[in-house]
Formats: sequence, structure tokens, C-alpha cells
Amino acid sequence: MIQEIAELIRATAWVDTHEHLWDESTRLRLSAEGKFPSDFSAFFFGYPTSDLLSAGLPAECHQRLFSPVVDVATKWRDIEPYYKPTWHTGYMRNVRASIHALTGEDEIDGSNCGRISEALAKLLQPGHYRQVLRTISNIEYCQVASLEAHVFHETESPDLLCQDFHFDPLCLEKSFVPGDVMMDLAQAASREPSDLSAWYEIIEWHFARFAPRAIALKHASAYQRRLDYEPVSSEAAAPLFDRYRRDPSALSDEERKALHDHLFHFCVRQAVDYNLPIKMHTGYHAGVFGMPLRRVQHNLSDLCPVFQLHPDARFVLFHMGFPYQHEAMALAKHYPNVFIDLSWAWIISPSATGRFVKEFLVSAPATKLLCFGGDYWNLEGVPGHAVIARQGLARSLSELVQEAWIDNSEVSGMIRQLMRDNPYALFDYQGRSRNWSLATAIPQVS
Ligand SMILES: [Zn+2]
Repeated sequence: MIQEIAELIRATAWVDTHEHLWDESTRLRLSAEGKFPSDFSAFFFGYPTSDLLSAGLPAECHQRLFSPVVDVATKWRDIEPYYKPTWHTGYMRNVRASIHALTGEDEIDGSNCGRISEALAKLLQPGHYRQVLRTISNIEYCQVASLEAHVFHETESPDLLCQDFHFDPLCLEKSFVPGDVMMDLAQAASREPSDLSAWYEIIEWHFARFAPRAIALKHASAYQRRLDYEPVSSEAAAPLFDRYRRDPSALSDEERKALHDHLFHFCVRQAVDYNLPIKMHTGYHAGVFGMPLRRVQHNLSDLCPVFQLHPDARFVLFHMGFPYQHEAMALAKHYPNVFIDLSWAWIISPSATGRFVKEFLVSAPATKLLCFGGDYWNLEGVPGHAVIARQGLARSLSELVQEAWIDNSEVSGMIRQLMRDNPYALFDYQGRSRNWSLATAIPQVS
């Protein structure tokens, strides 16, 4: 039975609800300029490196790993002692599944890392993204939280790489792009950020300009702060904005939080007006040696007052809030406006995610689960992740059939719902595509 279910899942195209992928031309340029590797180390970029570092990879080996001038034999010698104790993790299985999908090799070691590198370098040609995403990975389209612009990236491939709208910078919180965020955003809108009312207009300009072509809002400030966004009146926020504008360091931590809180709620109301779901990072942190678990453990409970304050907004909790996924499940069951997204989760903890899917489907509405996002900057991580998520989903559904919770006859409908219908119901792909085709010659805003 698991074979049949696995086959149905293999034949169904994913809607991928979370990536950070560069545009293809950016990726090809970075590799051509020697700024991003085109050898086997590309498969280790990002999450797999975190497991190597957690296993003790020295800093100098880490630096050499992505250098364009270090030979592949040295790179492999550097990482081999740390690959061995991690080869069984989700991250490393993802490395091998991606290598297999792109080069046909089943394993990686000192004997074939050169061959894998040559095969990858050959693939890096125009058309690479469509081949890897659509043909090899059977992904219909990706939703991308781009790291190439403060708020919204004018992608060259709007049908394949739908863009999220980052609103943290509009709340004067973090931006992925360096620069003076306040002045950059004000300049783009051709307005002076003279006071809070002017800042509202700047926010509204960005929504009017980009929200019709965005697939969702994205918020990643859980990396910086608690998610206890309290209601703060504009009367209280206005003098804080004035002082912040003159000197951002003039505000105390509490005052800065109050200003961010106020702007967050303003943006959530905009999201409702533009009918955009709000994706929020919750739970585990990327990287090593930085996650403040005491703060992270409050992410999900902190958000309850936000859900209550905005019943018309739709909130998507990312990464199932791992390792607090049971709280995430309780929220999706209880709040009509809360959805759960499994992006990244299948490789952080494949077994916990498989159990989560089973438990979710017997606890909460199946309409509220989004089952796949690779969460990678570089394309090499995505095909393997799509395979691992398919295998995990097949196992979870098979077990539910074996345990007589769902009937065999319901499986194909459930697969379609989890892999495609749910994201199509939550995100307006068609409306956004229409708006892209109407928008011509829109200048790049960074
Ligand atoms: Zn992400």
C-alpha cells in the first residue's frame, strides 16, 4: 500500500510554499564570478553546514568549504570527519537525495566528489531552474521570501518564483538587505518620513505598489524579538517615531518595542485589506550557537492575542513551530485564522514531522496544513527536500490507512488537498499572476 500511495504522491506536483531562492540569472552570475561555488560544496550550503559545525567542523575548514579557489579534494578531506557522524540526519539525507536527483550518484565520498562537482557545473546553464524545479522535482511553483530586496523583489520569473512581501522593514524591524532601511523605503515612495502619519503613507505606498503582485506577507522578526505584539495607540507611538527618526538609539528597548508593535498591527490591517495571508517564522533558528530557546518557546503562546485581535487576517505559522509543534497544532485546531506550514521541518526532524502530520490529520482540519517548502537560498537543496517530504507524507498517510483512520478510497483526494488544494485555497495564485501581467515596466526598488 505504501508503494501505491508513494506513487500517487510522486505523480502529484507540489506547490512549494517557502523558499529564499535567488533568481536564476543571479545564481548563474554569482557562480560565474566565483562568489558561489559550483562544485559539490553547493549541496552543503546552508543547513547541512550547520550540522557539520554542530559536529565540530573548525572555522577554517568552514571558510575553505565555499571558496572558489580551494580544490574539491581538500574540501572533502576537511569535512569528511564531520560528515561521518551526521550522515544520517535529515540535512545530510537531503544532501544525498539532491545529489542523486541532479547527478545520479547515490553517495558522496572522496572518490566521487570531483565527478559530482563536474556534473553540477555542467547543469548551471540558463533554463536550469525550470528543469530542476518542474521536470526533476515536480514542483509547480515556489513561493519565495527573497533576500534581494527590503520589501519586494521584482523577479524575472513571476510564474515560477512567486514573491513574498517582507513587512518587517516597514515596522522598522530587520531587513535582509543592508542599508538605511527607513531612508531607503522613504526614498522609494518619494516621501519624507517626517512623522508617523508620513510613515503610514510610506507603508501604504509599498502595499499599493507591491501587494497586488505578492503571494503573501512574510515576517521573520522572531529571530530578533518575542512575538508579543501588543496594541499601542498612534498617540503613544507618534512621539516614539519622532525620537526614533532623529536618533534610532535614543529609544529604550521598551520604547522601541512599542513602536514596532504599533507598526506591526498597522501592517496586519493592510494585509487584510489586500487579502494576503501572513507567514510568520516560529520555532527553531537557522545556524548554530545563537538560538535563545527561552524566547523561542514563547513564540506560539505570544501570538494568541494577535490572532484574537485580527480575526479577519490569516496567519501561517512556519516550520510547525518546532520543537513546539504540539502547541502549533493546538492553535490550528482552535483558531479559524491559523494555518501550519511544514517548510524546512521535514529535514530538521523527519520523524517528528511525520508524526506531526499523522497527529494533525486526526486532530485538526486538513485544510489548514501546508506540507512542503524547501527553505533554501540555493537551488541544490530543493530537489532532495521535495523527495524527503514526499516520502514522509507517504509514510504518514499509509499509517493512517493501516490504522483505519482514513479509508483507502480517501487517500488520493487527501494527497491532492495537502500538496495542492490547500495552498491554492489560501494563496491567490491566479489573481497575483493577472496583476503581474498588468504591471509593465515597473522600476526596480531596492
Ligand atoms: Zn525561510
